[in-house]
Amino acid sequence: MDAGDITVIRQAAGMQALSRGWHSEGLAVGLVPTMGALHKGHLDLVVEARRQCDRVVVSIFVNPTQFGPSEDFSRYPRDLEGDLAKLADIGVDAVFFPNPGEMYPSGFQTRVELTRLPAHLCGLTRLNHFAGVAQVVLKLFNICKPDVAVFGQKDFQQVRVIEQMVADLNLDIRIVRHPIVREPDGLAMSSRNVYLTREQREAATVINRTLVDSEAWIREGEHQPAAIVKRAGQQIREAGGEVEYFNVCDPVTLDDLNRIGAESTQVLLVTAVRFGATRLIDNRLVDCVWAPQPM
Ligand code: AMP
Repeated sequence: MDAGDITVIRQAAGMQALSRGWHSEGLAVGLVPTMGALHKGHLDLVVEARRQCDRVVVSIFVNPTQFGPSEDFSRYPRDLEGDLAKLADIGVDAVFFPNPGEMYPSGFQTRVELTRLPAHLCGLTRLNHFAGVAQVVLKLFNICKPDVAVFGQKDFQQVRVIEQMVADLNLDIRIVRHPIVREPDGLAMSSRNVYLTREQREAATVINRTLVDSEAWIREGEHQPAAIVKRAGQQIREAGGEVEYFNVCDPVTLDDLNRIGAESTQVLLVTAVRFGATRLIDNRLVDCVWAPQPM
């Protein structure tokens, strides 16, 4: 199927053949894995892949294995036609759009699990989520055969899981992290923002505001994570958000820090907040300029 200039491929074997052909011509292939309902955050990742590679594949697959039984798999926004129109404007070479049966045929039984990174943050409430993410991304890597894969830093724990999997399994793929793309008022773009009522949408700006404020509190001299977590939590709750977590952690291991600036030269401020039934995540990497720099 062709949508404009974009080839839409539904079969893994077809995608593998296309990518194999590109490689035989010496072309570098970039992949941007997505669940569709594309917004500017996704499109900036595609532009980055375009900049770094000769051919760009976007995968669109709402992966059932990364959703829990009470999560929003069935109502997750889907809009293939709209997505293809947006991608045609940028210039994408192929969209891989499999159905669940193509990805998980009967008899499928292989799991991909990391032992430590998922035991933090979102992994504590979204059980099996990161096993589902690692499983589908490893499959997408084997199907699309990218040299480069671009992921957003908005899903910080996710990109760490992928980076770790790539290192642990010696995958010959370069992972590119793309900065968080935000609405003009600071809210991180997300396909789930469409679930928010007008009031919730307005209130949700507190998330980024609190991350920015937290960095300021650190720079003003507050180096106790517990104090930051308490103050940030209060600020978010006062605006009507229900804080699932707000952590100050090491950006590599995701372990909680005991003191800011003592253990690493960067700290990650990271949070998950609910407005009604909608769960939003966001984060901010802070450089600890006062910390001793490695020689
Ligand atoms: P999703 O479709 O939500 O699974 O996201 C697909 C990719 O887009 C992931 O690598 C996300 O981290 C990335 N992404 C989603 N929203 C943003 C954003 N606001 N800024 C940067 N990257 C994003």
